[in-house]
Amino acid sequence: MTSANSTGSAQFDGLGLKRVINGRSWVTILGGSRMPEEVQHAMADAANTFIDFHELNKRAGEVIAQYTGAEAGLVVAGASAGLLVQAAAVMAGQDPERILQLPDTTGMKDEILIFENHRFGFEICYRTAGATLKEWGKGEGSLAEQLTAAIDEKTAAVAYVFSPWMSCDLSLREVVAIAHARDVPVIVDGAAMLPPADNLTRYIADGADLVTFSGGKGLRGPQSTGILAGRADLVEAARLNMSPHASVGRGSKVAKEEIAAVLAALNRFVSMDHEAEWATWRGWSESITAVGKGIKGLRPVIEDGDPNRQGPTAVFYFEEDWGGPSSKEIQDVLSAGDPSIHVGVGSYGDELYVSPVALEQGEAELVAEALREQFT
Ligand SMILES: *Cc1c(COP(=O)(O)O)cnc(C)c1O
Repeated sequence: MTSANSTGSAQFDGLGLKRVINGRSWVTILGGSRMPEEVQHAMADAANTFIDFHELNKRAGEVIAQYTGAEAGLVVAGASAGLLVQAAAVMAGQDPERILQLPDTTGMKDEILIFENHRFGFEICYRTAGATLKEWGKGEGSLAEQLTAAIDEKTAAVAYVFSPWMSCDLSLREVVAIAHARDVPVIVDGAAMLPPADNLTRYIADGADLVTFSGGKGLRGPQSTGILAGRADLVEAARLNMSPHASVGRGSKVAKEEIAAVLAALNRFVSMDHEAEWATWRGWSESITAVGKGIKGLRPVIEDGDPNRQGPTAVFYFEEDWGGPSSKEIQDVLSAGDPSIHVGVGSYGDELYVSPVALEQGEAELVAEALREQFT
């Protein structure tokens, strides 16, 4: 029996860590996501084994290929490692000398084109492999004209990022058409785009040459995993540029038990009832927004289907006649509490939001109660 303020882990309790209630979604800083029982079981089950790692990678890749509709797949060490090996694959390919040479790209095509609104912190992963980023999208003419003009003899790939707040008026399909006409591959980051499950196949169907997803966000596998899917020759190149091979991706190791677990997570994800889960999330968001109803200066809403939100999100907008503490002050008070409750602020002006996707049964009520105290 654990106490109300136990983290849920004897190990972490022993380290003196505080219990965290995560209303911010699957963020690495709070531990990513929770592994469901079958995923934990697969991890433990694989831990006391030896296997041929190349064969494991091959079989795991076949499972990923089947679920994504791609020619091939690979388990990677997080979507970040997915980006790193995407870059390595489009620059060095399967050439043994080039693989050993990275991150020195002398003699290789080494520029990755990136749309101006797709610039993000994770682009360092492409650079880690040795790539140089070349921005496009702020010049003259239509976006299609600008992209076409940006492609030259140094272009190794065009990157396309799917993430909140990072939309591009040129669709992936349109970008693919332009890039492929010049024989340039398109590499996609869809790290946090699962669910919806349709996205597993969507980007591949749109013509992406490689796409990566996080294993430790909505898939609920280990935080240190991701999946990569795409063209067989490029996935093979990615595999050669990664652990267990001595290569630029050697530090991005994914262990056998992590591979077992992310496959279990994938199996669970594709066969689960996503609508039922969405309904549960909606219910939690309703009980959270309820505490803001009828309070002067607060406008509580559930935002469902907003591409910049994950899941049906409880949002409180602070209007001009709000007389209480700011959203940031409330966020700080809640995170300093015990348990430490994490909520988001400021996505759209002065607002506070609670994403339900990482909450568990019983936690929405605790978040609601804590917010009620701050609101009244
Ligand atoms: C989370 C995220 C990543 C990194 O994924 P990890 O699996 O944590 O390595 C990369 N890109 C985007 C857009 C993300 O949201």
